[in-house]
Amino acid sequence: ASVGMSRLRLFRALQTEAQEKEHLYQEAVRASRTKDQFLAMISHELRTPLTSILGWSEMLASGRLAPDMTQRAVATIDRNARAQAQIIDDLLDISRIISGKLRLAVRDIDPAQPVEAAIDAVRPAALARDVELSVSVAPQLGRLAADPDRLQQVVWNLVTNAVKFTDRGGRVDVEVSRGRENVEIRVRDSGRGIAPDFLPHVFERFSQVDASSTREHGGLGLGLSIVRHLVEMHGGSVQAWSEGLGSGSQFTVRLPFSTTAATPADDRRAHE
Ligand code: ADP
Repeated sequence: ASVGMSRLRLFRALQTEAQEKEHLYQEAVRASRTKDQFLAMISHELRTPLTSILGWSEMLASGRLAPDMTQRAVATIDRNARAQAQIIDDLLDISRIISGKLRLAVRDIDPAQPVEAAIDAVRPAALARDVELSVSVAPQLGRLAADPDRLQQVVWNLVTNAVKFTDRGGRVDVEVSRGRENVEIRVRDSGRGIAPDFLPHVFERFSQVDASSTREHGGLGLGLSIVRHLVEMHGGSVQAWSEGLGSGSQFTVRLPFSTTAATPADDRRAHE
């Protein structure tokens, strides 16, 4: 009987091993498919603005463009080149995050400044989409140990998304307030909202609601994962909230006054 038992055990062990191998194989297939899809998406996202840039610059070079079209050509080239630069910057940030090489240049700052700078940068896009953008900053926020450029990037990402996913005539409200232990930055929009099943995944790398909406709005699904990483490097947290599709969204960033994330101001240059 004991021989029978050990054979059975051996058989079970082999069976488990086979199942584990099959599981690993399936994982590898899935990972490779994701990578293929991601490469195709990056190529597409970089190719689309390039097609426009090449088309318009060729027209400019030919000298056949009507004078009133010249300004439009230059503006379109500028917009598309900036979109490309944004994608490349995000990819560089993600690769620094993955390799652990991203460093903060932490200083003693007034948090209102990077927030306002970010909002000023999004204003033209809000105006173009007829989205009302309002900001309220509480007096005496206190000072933060933070990297002002990275904080501006965090707010820029959240406000850009809020404008991007809000229909014409909608609104985006940014509120900066002071809690007992942290500064709170809230970005609320009246846009399309986030479905409950997608909400837990919004901060994941490469996550988008679905391929068609991503194609419609562009983007690679990297922005929010970079946001979360930067906020956490400051010792803070970020949360997303939405009542569901059609009810708008709200993102809240909390940055603690005392952070352990502080690194010397010139650290970034030293590591890049
Ligand atoms: P990207 O905007 O480049 O796709 P993000 O990481 O910034 O990547 O956002 C991931 C996804 O989360 C978006 O594609 C969108 O589906 C959803 N999302 C982010 N912000 C909002 C928002 N304010 N309202 C609705 N959906 C949002």
